[in-house]
Amino acid sequence: MTDSKLKKITVALAGNPNCGKTSVFNMLTGASHHVANYPGTTVETVQGKCVHGDFRIVFVDLPGAYGLTTFSAEELVARNFIIDEKPDIVVNVIDASNLERNLYLTTQLIELGVPIVLAFNMNDIAVQRGIIFDTDRLSELLEAPIVRTVASKSQGRVDLLNAIVAKANAPRKLRTHYITYGDEIENSMKQIEPLVRSEYPGLAAKYDSRWLALKLLEQDGDILSKISGDWLVDTVGDTITKLKTIFGDDPEVIIAERRSGFISGACQESVKNTVELTHTTSDLADAVLTHRVFGLPIFLLMMYLLFYLTFSIAAYPMAWLEQFFGWLSSAIALIWPTQEGNWLRSLIIDGIIPGVGGVLVFLPNILLLFLAIAVLEDSGYMARAAFIMDRLMHKIGLHGKSFIPMLIGFGCSVPAIMATRILENKRNRLTTIMILPLMSCGARLTIYGLLIPAFFPQNWRGPVLWLIYLTGIVLAVIAAKVLRLTVFRGENTDFVMELPPYRVPTFKSLSAHTWLRGWLYLKKAGTVILVFSIILWAAMNYPRVSEQSVAGLSPDQIRQTQLANSVIGRVGRAIEPVIKPLGFDWKIGTALIGATAAKELFVSQLGIIYAVSSHDDPSATTLRQHLQADYSSLVGFCIMLFCLISSPCVATIAVTRSEAGSWFWAAFQFVSLTVLAYIITFAVYQIGSLVMAL
Ligand code: GDP
Ligand code: MG
Repeated sequence: MTDSKLKKITVALAGNPNCGKTSVFNMLTGASHHVANYPGTTVETVQGKCVHGDFRIVFVDLPGAYGLTTFSAEELVARNFIIDEKPDIVVNVIDASNLERNLYLTTQLIELGVPIVLAFNMNDIAVQRGIIFDTDRLSELLEAPIVRTVASKSQGRVDLLNAIVAKANAPRKLRTHYITYGDEIENSMKQIEPLVRSEYPGLAAKYDSRWLALKLLEQDGDILSKISGDWLVDTVGDTITKLKTIFGDDPEVIIAERRSGFISGACQESVKNTVELTHTTSDLADAVLTHRVFGLPIFLLMMYLLFYLTFSIAAYPMAWLEQFFGWLSSAIALIWPTQEGNWLRSLIIDGIIPGVGGVLVFLPNILLLFLAIAVLEDSGYMARAAFIMDRLMHKIGLHGKSFIPMLIGFGCSVPAIMATRILENKRNRLTTIMILPLMSCGARLTIYGLLIPAFFPQNWRGPVLWLIYLTGIVLAVIAAKVLRLTVFRGENTDFVMELPPYRVPTFKSLSAHTWLRGWLYLKKAGTVILVFSIILWAAMNYPRVSEQSVAGLSPDQIRQTQLANSVIGRVGRAIEPVIKPLGFDWKIGTALIGATAAKELFVSQLGIIYAVSSHDDPSATTLRQHLQADYSSLVGFCIMLFCLISSPCVATIAVTRSEAGSWFWAAFQFVSLTVLAYIITFAVYQIGSLVMAL
């Protein structure tokens, strides 16, 4: 091939001082280099060339650098060369015997978004020290090919050239994962990015705007000087001050920690040191907390505490709030006498107060839960917890952190769905949200509490309850897998689990996290739930029965007649043919529709339908006797199964909408779970009936 047909590419060599960069350069170019001063500085860059395949490659040996900051002339030269000269590929030479430290520069190259080939040099020393790399895995995590070299002995030359050529020929693809810097910093970056783009279109064209925003938060002198004397400087300054009070440290420090966390995570998964090298406190803590044997019990204990805090302790303020709303209703009822057709009174007492109250009673729950999660996240434990669960959760296509919302789901789906915020990957997050209602929540326990004693003998009760919970878990696992293979396919979950250093959480950060999420819950879920509760109230109370038709009936019977006459009662009857194959009649249908307002309403609705006095506990013996008389144990089991799987409650739908970001996903969840419930209950009832008939 003649020289003119060769494709020309430029490759920059970047690496820490003494990683063997010059040796790699000499190995690649046969030392045919010439030295050039980088324009405007006294720092030298050396150039050389070689021909490989149909490429004519110009290599540039950049000055050694530990990072791409502006603190030293070398680092600035290396960085400006990469930004200004746009080399086709950057070969990042790494001293493989000192991997974690060397990867710090790599994280900054990743941030710049340049195509990277990694040369793991000093491989001989790494082998000697007994370090074992899973290079395939590491290359997956870093999204860059890895070639091992021993430059001083010219080993790995052809492999490295092949990797360079392959990378040059491959279509340029965007990274699927960037290093993330935590909610606060990510949000600040999102605020700064558009400002930079609109105020400095020139800068934004040259640099990536995410990178610019990051550099501004790091108070990068070079970038700051480009916007000097501008109000943007003040805006950035304010943001930094705010972040400082939250973290108790410069954002720069936090950003550096996140980079190190990314590296620790990647190395933890892919590098084994057979010879122990370092023992910092953080390493010691990790040795215990992510231990193969002890890690899991410690994690389960932590989760127990989390659960205890959110549901047991929150139960007290929840009860106070419930009492308060109960008192408010009766106070209004006392002051505001009943009159003929006084719908507003009923709307307030039976619709709005329970509706709004239903939202507010969750607030202590949500606040405590997010306080606990903030402690786990800020202290650095969350990353370890995710690490422990990751292998298991990966099997169903989810992230280790998904385990936490799933666990919370046994208490209530509402805070659980909000807890999916800890997941950074959108598909993972949506999948987790979709399957969460399958974790049998506390409200559903009231349904089981009514039905199980009604239909099953004493020694069957435990196993039946266990079977119901287990069914939910198994279905959730299957559903997650299916969703990841279909609707939420793609985007591998093979990303780096960051292991940031342990820190003592600051009060400011904890309170900020907690309040922000509490407020979001009130604002977003509150409005939707209010609207829904008004609609459901109307559907339960209209059309009204006339006074004459219920004359002489007891209050319980009046309520029964009213419900049967209402929209919900009518719909319950209308769908009877549809639910008949599940073994359900109109009474169950009516109660099921009412239960979409809140699962525990299923019980009180059945109480109304059977005209069991509202003054008694509706779950008491009388209601059970009615149920026993009307339905078989099989039907009883099918009701529980349907309640477990079918449509989530209004609060869940509202939170899914706000967290998933669209009505589409809320509707998707509602419809698919209801259809799934139908199919499964149908199968169980039909097969069960056949077996019973034998
Ligand atoms: P630079 O500062 O990154 O340019 O590193 P140099 O190329 O100058 O190398 C520093 C030292 O490491 C020299 O003494 C090299 O001979 C040695 N060296 C380079 N590569 C290797 C390698 O793969 N294995 C070993 N054992 N030594 C190497
Ligand atoms: Mg050198």
